[in-house]
Amino acid sequence: MKLVFLGPPGAGKGTQASMVCQRFAIPHISTGDMLRAAIANGTETGMKAKVFMDRGQLVPDEVLIEMVRERLNEKDCEKGFLLDGFPRTVDQAEALEGIAAPDVVVDVDVADEKLLDRLTGRRVCEKCRESFHVAKIGDAKVCSHCGGTLIQRDDDKPATIRNRLDVYHRQTAPLIDYYRGKGALRTVDGDQTPEKVFEAILVVLGG
Ligand code: AMP
Repeated sequence: MKLVFLGPPGAGKGTQASMVCQRFAIPHISTGDMLRAAIANGTETGMKAKVFMDRGQLVPDEVLIEMVRERLNEKDCEKGFLLDGFPRTVDQAEALEGIAAPDVVVDVDVADEKLLDRLTGRRVCEKCRESFHVAKIGDAKVCSHCGGTLIQRDDDKPATIRNRLDVYHRQTAPLIDYYRGKGALRTVDGDQTPEKVFEAILVVLGG
């Protein structure tokens, strides 16, 4: 089972990806999380990536393609994987075809007006990466799942968010047609409760 999760920032891809990976026991590969870990560890890749991420821009393709190639070569990916946040450009998608072409590409679809609110209100657990919305948790600072600290991602600030949405429409949305052309695309309405979105994803995955 080789899956890709597409969709704009704030569509709920990460939450859904975690649930799907748990259900099917496949590794959840989030390139955003990998880059944030690289920044936290002070690696060269992390330092290079941070400049782009803080502006809401995409990190150069060659950095991402190499990172994903190495990750997909690891043993735990033998039975499948879920890529969350990769590919984000047609060049990345073409590189992926040469590494491990996805069987199904799930597009989690949400309108822009909703995304702005979701992203500005998003708080993420530093430890388990679970995300929450201030409309539900108020100004809570502690993760209800693991007790970790809740933070606002640097790139969830309004000016950066607008840039990320713009980058999504220009560079990533063309992948919808790219994968439709390959017959791999399955679109799911992301403007429902997380439980309903998950049900819809299970339906398109046939399980
Ligand atoms: P995410 O957590 O998926 O929203 O990613 C956060 C940021 O990491 C993005 O805004 C990009 O700057 C960078 N990033 C993550 N995945 C990719 C990718 N596939 N290509 C380029 N940049 C990426």
